[in-house]
Amino acid sequence: INSKLPTVGTTIFTVMSKLAADHQAINLSQGFPDYETNEQLIAEISQAMKSGFNQYAPMAGLVSLRELISEKIENLYGTKYHPETEITITAGGTQAIFTAINTFITAGDEVIIFEPAYDCYAPTIKLLGGLVKPFELQAPDYKIDWEMVKKLFSANTKMIIINTPHNPTGSILRKQDIEALIKLTKDTDILILSDEVYEHIIFDGEQHQSVALYPELAERSLIVASFGKLLHATGWKVGYCLAPEKLMSEFRKIHQFNVFSVNTPMQAGIANYLKSSNVYQEIPVFFQKKRDYFQELLKQTKFELLPCKGSYFQCVSFANISEEKDTDFAKRLVSTVGVAAIPVSAFYTQKIDNKVIRFCFAKEDSTLEKAVEKLTKL
Ligand code: GLN
Repeated sequence: INSKLPTVGTTIFTVMSKLAADHQAINLSQGFPDYETNEQLIAEISQAMKSGFNQYAPMAGLVSLRELISEKIENLYGTKYHPETEITITAGGTQAIFTAINTFITAGDEVIIFEPAYDCYAPTIKLLGGLVKPFELQAPDYKIDWEMVKKLFSANTKMIIINTPHNPTGSILRKQDIEALIKLTKDTDILILSDEVYEHIIFDGEQHQSVALYPELAERSLIVASFGKLLHATGWKVGYCLAPEKLMSEFRKIHQFNVFSVNTPMQAGIANYLKSSNVYQEIPVFFQKKRDYFQELLKQTKFELLPCKGSYFQCVSFANISEEKDTDFAKRLVSTVGVAAIPVSAFYTQKIDNKVIRFCFAKEDSTLEKAVEKLTKL
């Protein structure tokens, strides 16, 4: 068989979660909560099924949910996305990213990504014959030098993918980053794909810099968001994409033949729940507490903490503990210490090993305590 992705194996999340299960280790690798989502939300979902929301949703998603998204974005970021034409509900963030890249990238197009980068970007670009142009960021702060980014531009640059708050590093883009991006791409046709799935998980009073705050950038951008992260329900696979109509109409041409539409009762239940919940206020407070607690616990270990300003991931350097490759260290950690983490080299297309691993702290306090107790033995 002629593989279309000869160098791609199974995603690191699947690999590490399986290793965690095999070794009965505490799984801080793949990012998902180990506690239940809100009871009221679950009741809304089952009520939606009982009320007959069991057939195909409209191709772009239930209008009630799209209207709520439109209101939220306008309230928070000041840009109006029209529910009819500029918002599409997707089967999670990953499908939105896959469809967005599929919609605009063809053979020979170049896409700039910032590595470490979420693991689905590069293979999706390659699948279409696109060329990945990685800009490498380094520990500890993973800051972007935008003047250097400019050197990657060519006549074939079609898209730049940004991600804030950033998975895996927990770094965030600030106003000056977005302003630099605007300056660099002014008077070009370069599209921006902005992965904002952790938009509500941001700490220390920082403001999420959504592309939707910047109309001149938003007009060339697709924004991806996720209810899985917002609602502690990653398994429901409901997310959405926002884009101006001229981009969204093309996105939907692909979306309709990819999934057609996303499961209806989840959309109906989520819409009803959002009408009466304070989830947008609660979520940053909830995760700030988790992050602070996990960081406090980790001080008992030999790990060096990297800054975490957003997302539910804490990166740590193990350079003080071992000279192993990060992949070897992560394997040893899961098999002998009993804690699973993600080696950050998995998020680079080049061989780059900063001796950093990523822990997910969307876990019960007791899970974090048990994990750290094991980690102190290192
Ligand atoms: N987004 C999750 C993470 O970064 C994983 C999602 C997946 O397993 N594909 O851990």
